[in-house]
Amino acid sequence: MTIFSWHRSEFEQLAQRLAQLPHALLLRGLTGIGKRGFAAAVARGLLCENPPAPLESCSQCQACRWMASDSHPDFRLLEPEAAQTTADEEPDDKKKKRDISIAQVRSLTDFINISAHRNGRKVVVIQPAEAMNVNAANALLKNLEEPPPNTFFLLVTDRPHMLPATIRSRCQQLPLRPPTLEEAGAWLKQAGSAHPELALAQAGGAPLLAAQLDNPEYWDARRQFIEGLIRRPFEPLALAERLASHAVPRLIGWLQRWTYDLASLSQGSRVRYNPDHEAALAAAAQRMPALEVARLHRELVRFQRVVNHPLNTRLLLEDWFLRYAQLDRG
Ligand SMILES: [Zn+2]
Repeated sequence: MTIFSWHRSEFEQLAQRLAQLPHALLLRGLTGIGKRGFAAAVARGLLCENPPAPLESCSQCQACRWMASDSHPDFRLLEPEAAQTTADEEPDDKKKKRDISIAQVRSLTDFINISAHRNGRKVVVIQPAEAMNVNAANALLKNLEEPPPNTFFLLVTDRPHMLPATIRSRCQQLPLRPPTLEEAGAWLKQAGSAHPELALAQAGGAPLLAAQLDNPEYWDARRQFIEGLIRRPFEPLALAERLASHAVPRLIGWLQRWTYDLASLSQGSRVRYNPDHEAALAAAAQRMPALEVARLHRELVRFQRVVNHPLNTRLLLEDWFLRYAQLDRG
């Protein structure tokens, strides 16, 4: 994982005050903009034994080689066991173990209390920090209150408000900005994206999310979804059946973004997520009751937060599509 050009200046500012680096940093910012890559780069920079410049890493020394193979004895990464998937695309069977447990935090005790193996520094990355449950956060608090010398905690979060205030107040906050559309588009093109603009729109401007979803399978499934949704007459039950094999969070996410765009258009704002279907959206927004669409959108957002192992995808989709159909009888 690397550090992105749009975070370069934050990284350099950190490097300039390396000697006064706080023992706990809270890296916060939107989902999918590269915060984890930033944390990883800081960790490498802190542990590198032959840094070419402050906080830079050489990628040659023993420490850098260990970091590359996830085996540095002075580094710990705490994340939920069900990591490596995003909320949007998470398969249903990975819903468990989304917490960072107290046992994981307690496993740091020995690590923190023994002296470092190599250059004297030790680094702990916790991501996403809000995945710590209350007990885990309390256990961590002790470490943050009495920081061991030369030990650095890097907490990464999309949702700082979900962290206990006690944790937040003991970290120095480092906001990481999202890239501009131009920066993100340029990066995606360079990464070989087939549809950089549309992928970015779908991902709400987050380039890493955009890169992840920009694949033929995604576009094909989305095409099916939208064709079904704009077909006249709309056939909610048939569409639910056709899409029943797809992951629920993805489908609900699409309907949520579609209704967001409808609500946005009826308030005189612009299409955000589905710029390739602006005409169909505008026509639908004309004939659908704006307040009801906005309400449906809010309910989808709430539902998306709790969606978890639905017993029957088809029945669930039927329900939402029928509600959409009721609003779109034009
Ligand atoms: Zn190195």
